[in-house]
Amino acid sequence: MMQDDIFDSLTRNAFDFLLRGIAEFDKNPKYSVIHFCAAVEMLLKARLMKEHWSLIVSKPEQANLAKFMAGDFSSITLEEARARLRDVVGEDIGDDAYGSFRALANHRNKMVHFFHPEMESDDGAKAQIVAEHCRSWFHLHRLLSGWGGYFHDFAGEIARADLAMKAHRKYLSAKFKALKTELAKVRKAGNTPRACSACGFKAAVPKDLDSQIASLHCVVCDHTETQVEINCPHCSKPIVIANEGYATCKHCDMPIKPEDLADALIDHAAAHSAIADGDVRWEPANCGACEGYHTVVKRGDGYFCTNCFDISYHIEQCGWCNDLNTGDMEYSYSTGCSHCDGKVGWERDD
Ligand SMILES: [Zn+2]
Ligand SMILES: [Zn+2]
Ligand SMILES: [Zn+2]
Ligand SMILES: [Zn+2]
Repeated sequence: MMQDDIFDSLTRNAFDFLLRGIAEFDKNPKYSVIHFCAAVEMLLKARLMKEHWSLIVSKPEQANLAKFMAGDFSSITLEEARARLRDVVGEDIGDDAYGSFRALANHRNKMVHFFHPEMESDDGAKAQIVAEHCRSWFHLHRLLSGWGGYFHDFAGEIARADLAMKAHRKYLSAKFKALKTELAKVRKAGNTPRACSACGFKAAVPKDLDSQIASLHCVVCDHTETQVEINCPHCSKPIVIANEGYATCKHCDMPIKPEDLADALIDHAAAHSAIADGDVRWEPANCGACEGYHTVVKRGDGYFCTNCFDISYHIEQCGWCNDLNTGDMEYSYSTGCSHCDGKVGWERDD
């Protein structure tokens, strides 16, 4: 009960900071950075709170409930929050999300320690802040929408923040305009920029990996992502899925899963005849990056994970179970792969 109350008030407070960080940006960019960053950290802590309150105390082994309730404790850093989410909760936020939160925190630290007198009129500095906000919100929004439905009661707050962020993006339009010539050149070269998922501007330059998979870099906000184009398995309309294999179809609202992506991306005819010829490289493989089971499909010369969107060019059979895996398989006979525990595990269980 107590834990749920603290989760609620921490989350409510985080959204208050977030909206304030967005609203006060024009007049007070410094406090905007500080409040926005605090909100990100609070929401990561709220997720940890759902596991156990002591996880947001820097030394959980010395955690004391009475002191905690009195606010007398030192809280974890962003880095510790990521590590505990990964190691205790089993939910890694990913390098891209962590990188964008880290950039935000570094900027906050700089602003707290070094006085910047004309911040309000420094358009370059302000554009950088909004770009950081866009990237961080993109990742935060994705995390909040997943995370086992823990933030379901806050759907209203999430939608409000998303709306506020859409208005917040207008501060990047000067930068977008300044890049017009560069983008025109890119377009002329046949590389039509797409709408960026983080800032919304048509400034995400694709580098096609093949006809359905592209990696994009936004020249306005620096966001990078991998996009896959498939036809929705439920309504057959074309959809674009970014960064990971769990999504919702924008046409029919049905869930899309890594299995759906794998099914859409496998060249079934080629795979069938290659496997019949004994070419095992076409069989579904496990992912060394996210530990996904049979989430990796062959695309051209590469291997694409339909869960974490990792692309790799090397695949190997596990020395113990013979399953195909991306990632390092050197000691797999002893230690196994993401699918098995190897010889060591087999002897332990015996
Ligand atoms: Zn962008
Ligand atoms: Zn659909
Ligand atoms: Zn993966
Ligand atoms: Zn194995």
